Amino acid sequence: MAQLAKNQELEVTITDLTYEGLGVAKVDGFPLFIDNALPGEKVLIHITKLDKKYGFAFTKQILVQSPDRVEAKDRTLTQTGIAPLQHLSYAAQLKFKRQQVTELYKKQHLDIEVLPTLPSPQTSGYRNKAQVPVRTVQGQLATGFYKRRSHTLLPITDFYIQDPEIDRAILVVRDLLRQYNVPAYDEQRNAGVVRHIMVRRGYFTHMMMVVIVTRTRQLPHAKEIVAGINAQLPEVASIMQNVNAKRTNVILGDHSKTLWGQDYIEDQLLGSTFRISAQSFYQVNPQQTENLYGKAIDAAGLTGKETVIDAYSGIGTISLTMARHAKHVYGVEIVPSAVADARVNAELNGIDNVTFKLGKAEDVMQQWGEQKLASDVLMVDPPRKGLAPEFITAVGSMLPKKVVYVSCNPATLARDIKALAEFGYVAKQTQPVDMFPQTLHVESVTALELQQD
Ligand code: SAH
Repeated sequence: MAQLAKNQELEVTITDLTYEGLGVAKVDGFPLFIDNALPGEKVLIHITKLDKKYGFAFTKQILVQSPDRVEAKDRTLTQTGIAPLQHLSYAAQLKFKRQQVTELYKKQHLDIEVLPTLPSPQTSGYRNKAQVPVRTVQGQLATGFYKRRSHTLLPITDFYIQDPEIDRAILVVRDLLRQYNVPAYDEQRNAGVVRHIMVRRGYFTHMMMVVIVTRTRQLPHAKEIVAGINAQLPEVASIMQNVNAKRTNVILGDHSKTLWGQDYIEDQLLGSTFRISAQSFYQVNPQQTENLYGKAIDAAGLTGKETVIDAYSGIGTISLTMARHAKHVYGVEIVPSAVADARVNAELNGIDNVTFKLGKAEDVMQQWGEQKLASDVLMVDPPRKGLAPEFITAVGSMLPKKVVYVSCNPATLARDIKALAEFGYVAKQTQPVDMFPQTLHVESVTALELQQD
């Protein structure tokens, strides 16, 4: 190991950027991961931590700057992980995301062309949803985000990537909680009341939902808070309280109640209307979602005759869009309120060639396999952990001609494509679609075809 010590300062050249957005420099082969440093830059660093095989440092001074560096909006946002790529130009962010998919494929020995990343129409202010922790900071109730790799709350008012109306709504709720002396959650002692504020705003409808997540069943001054929200935020159509009493990082608990108005909002995508409940998943970048779904639908190559399975179907956005071009679509989803939303959404849009099933995709796929449900196209859009092994086994017994994989994690995508190859599935191309500008998340669409013989 090179002669390095904690708190040492030295000049290094950055050779790479990790999937966590840290610059990499090697000192006699020993890797250092460096905050706020970009490939090609020469920087003066300060070492903060040394492990056996690698170390961490921060940038004290940039000596030679990368042409891809842009001025950061607010350094606090990088510290929290809200906008960890804000110092990298948008064009370079798109290249970085494409490169990550390419490298993961290389590791799995997969020969798949990775197309240039499709840019997002909006690169800031795009998020239609916020979930911010509420804590006491210097004796006062505060909203913001955790410092990376910690549970220390850094107060933030302008979140940069969120719809500015959502940022404003969070401050309105924060000030009402302060006004009525409602205690913030205390994580260490599992005490206090308000844990999170969640806000969703329909991009097309401007309908807003405010969810106050509490540890206790009781929300003190609920009436006054509701009146205050209604007086200051006329777009609000739904005010909910969600109760989460557990010691957990999971934001929402199982129990929700309506404090005022409806228990859902509506939004539109690709000309259809969708109802969205508090607990249901809904894509966070609405304009780019239309492009993402467009790519998925193109990849499915529907002619109107196909039976489609849409696994991980959420509130049915992809299912219902595909149903317009298919014979029948079967959706499966694990969250009960999302399945209920999906069924209402089918009715709202006058679509009757869809069936939504509540359950684990891996279990329901096996049942459908046993029932000899013959699907032509299997659409999958799993969470970050990717497809369960039992799900892949079920695909192997059903053998749909085509699998369209929408992925939010290229590492599990590469792993799953490798596993599907065992059954004869071949992918030619992946289209990365940037759903999360300024962040490290990589979304993509890949079509896999079953090779005959
Ligand atoms: N296709 C939808 C939802 C994608 S997000 C859309 O674009 O809006 C992934 C969805 O998978 C979420 O709705 C989540 O609740 C669901 N999910 C997570 N694990 C699951 C499982 N094991 N079985 C079925 N659905 C699951």
